[in-house]
Amino acid sequence: MKTSPMKFSPTKGGSGSPGSSTKVLPIASLNPYQSKWTIRARVTNKSTVRTWSNSRGDGRLFSFDVLDESGEIKITAFNKEVDKFFSLVEQGKVYYISKATLKVANKQFTTLKNNYEMTLHAHSSVMPCDDSQGIPTVSCAFVPIAELENRDTDTIVDVIGVCKSADDVSRITTKTSREVSKRTLQLIDTTGKMVTLTLWGEEAEKFDGAVDPVVAVKGARLSDFGGRSLSALFSSTVMVNPDLPEAFSLRAWYDQGGYALDSQSLTETRAAGSRAKTNWKTLSEVKNEDLGHGEKANYFSCLATILYTRKDNCLYQACPTEDCKKKVIDQQNGMYRCEKCDREFPNFKYILLLIANLADFGDNQWVTCFQETAEALLGHSAETLGQLRDTDEAAFDEVFQKVNFTTHIFRNRVKLETYNDESRVKVTVMEVQPVDHREYSRRLLSNIRKLAS
Ligand SMILES: [Zn+2]
Repeated sequence: MKTSPMKFSPTKGGSGSPGSSTKVLPIASLNPYQSKWTIRARVTNKSTVRTWSNSRGDGRLFSFDVLDESGEIKITAFNKEVDKFFSLVEQGKVYYISKATLKVANKQFTTLKNNYEMTLHAHSSVMPCDDSQGIPTVSCAFVPIAELENRDTDTIVDVIGVCKSADDVSRITTKTSREVSKRTLQLIDTTGKMVTLTLWGEEAEKFDGAVDPVVAVKGARLSDFGGRSLSALFSSTVMVNPDLPEAFSLRAWYDQGGYALDSQSLTETRAAGSRAKTNWKTLSEVKNEDLGHGEKANYFSCLATILYTRKDNCLYQACPTEDCKKKVIDQQNGMYRCEKCDREFPNFKYILLLIANLADFGDNQWVTCFQETAEALLGHSAETLGQLRDTDEAAFDEVFQKVNFTTHIFRNRVKLETYNDESRVKVTVMEVQPVDHREYSRRLLSNIRKLAS
């Protein structure tokens, strides 16, 4: 590392005379035909050290982007210069840089708005500069999230939003059989629209979305995956709670009510029960809107409390064949017969079919829970409950007592069914989930806002 004691005189407004033979020039004025220049610029993005290998050999490199008032440029260092400069260059810090080679930018690897890029060589100088006055922190042209719908896919965009939710980090295998960490965030801005941003690698691992931070991404790729979504690239800069005016106004907007906005996502998430597609209904709305009376079944989600569960006949002995749920006939000789499979078995499995009454503040509704949803609700497997019923009636009763007056989120299927000339609306529980009180409060606030407007 260079430890030259050479002192640069303070420069204001991007020009000055730091040494006898060079002068501080704006980045935008640089071209390959000049040799004696110095720039004073801030590092806005720094890559990790990467290795490369091709027919001409192999080696290591890292790159960083720098910015001043006039523009930005990408700088790359190879091998020995990696050792020399990698630890010196810090994201966010300002440096004097001189004696690097300029060449025409390879637009395949950079999204910066500059026709040239720099390579550091043995005589290049990178020196920290304590005076960062007049050097912008980052130059972004933020696109409002709602406008992403109208942009071409594969364009590179800058986006800023509040991270309303973040998925857990997951590991995936790329096409080149490399394992990489991945995390998706849901960003919302004042347009009320939401979009998914995918982070990769270390960025995905270290991200903490616990307090709904403001996230700005510079140079993300817009894709049409799931409608419209964003993906961070190697060259992207991801900033959490950046020191930018746009970030402060977003923070204020979100905290003063934006969080309760019933946002619409541009990205269709494929996860089950995804928030974007949840059809929230109160139980009286289900009836008043004649849900399930159409040709197809309707689906809705509700927050409701269990008033009653019918424990009699909630368990039956079924065929042990996988996927067959037919009730077996006890042959009274230790064998059980399935009419559907046309076979006798020495064993059976227990199947749960639980009838329950759900209530919310305005109405109540009888529902049916099959195996998995009944097990989730009662907190025991059908097998355990079957054994309990036969061995410990008091404990069996207690399971059903305990579930009364508990509150959950139910995702349901509703369909009008006709049986013996009698039509009845049948509600089947597809999924039981715990109440996310934070999300529920947001929805209530959003409903209140709608009533007020
Ligand atoms: Zn069977």
